[in-house]
Amino acid sequence: MSATKTLAFILKTQDYRDTSILGDFYTRDFGKIKGIVKGVRDARGRYGSTLEPFSLNEILFYKRKRGGDLHQVTQVELVNHFLKVREDIERLSYASYFIQLVNELVEVEQSGPEIFDLLNDSFRFLSSGASPKRCARIFELKLFGLLGLMPEIHACVSCQKDDPEPAYFNVSLGGIHCKNCRTDQARLSTPLKTEPSAVLGTSFPVSRGTLNFLEHVRRSEVKELRRVKVAQEVGEELEKILRRFVDFHLTNKLKSVVFMEKMGLF
Ligand SMILES: [Zn+2]
Repeated sequence: MSATKTLAFILKTQDYRDTSILGDFYTRDFGKIKGIVKGVRDARGRYGSTLEPFSLNEILFYKRKRGGDLHQVTQVELVNHFLKVREDIERLSYASYFIQLVNELVEVEQSGPEIFDLLNDSFRFLSSGASPKRCARIFELKLFGLLGLMPEIHACVSCQKDDPEPAYFNVSLGGIHCKNCRTDQARLSTPLKTEPSAVLGTSFPVSRGTLNFLEHVRRSEVKELRRVKVAQEVGEELEKILRRFVDFHLTNKLKSVVFMEKMGLF
């Protein structure tokens, strides 16, 4: 076993036996890993971190070669606690949503510094005072892009017609439909809250402004998107599309989403 040092975001922790903690970490160099931090709960002073979710840490761990995917983490040093995000219940809830979404959608040991960088940029973005909703929409789109799930926004997913006008978004097919291929028109006005599963097959209208924004996000770095302005109608449409799209890719509703809905934040 060899010791390895890397930067890592804490995705989730859980107490284990009397003094240890089991954690899911998203590391810069090895993607998502599972680790056990032994003796941490009886000797907090040994660690420079309280192992709180979404904090950024430098960790030292012994990579397990065989027999399971639980690595032994022997050092955790806090690098960034993102205090500005923690001080505000709305920003804190969105940050929790980001890590829960990553933890849910990313497989263990699926490597890639891009998702680490996306988390890092997004927590900085959230700390900057930018609208948490806008930050969330950009995060969702970028994450879907990195996971190969970015919706098709240039051609009809059924007949391949380029840039159809008008366009309709279909969540279950992961892209846009032209007027001729759209489905379930009768249900276009069905409110999402009543029966989410019933409307997933529906293609609902999506404006050119929203499609242009999706393309802009796809092409740009998160840092460049900090100052981007979003018209209210585009913001609302994006929220409708992306929330349905996220729900479609998750088995269960995330705890942070349940909380934010209860608080009227999401
Ligand atoms: Zn078509």
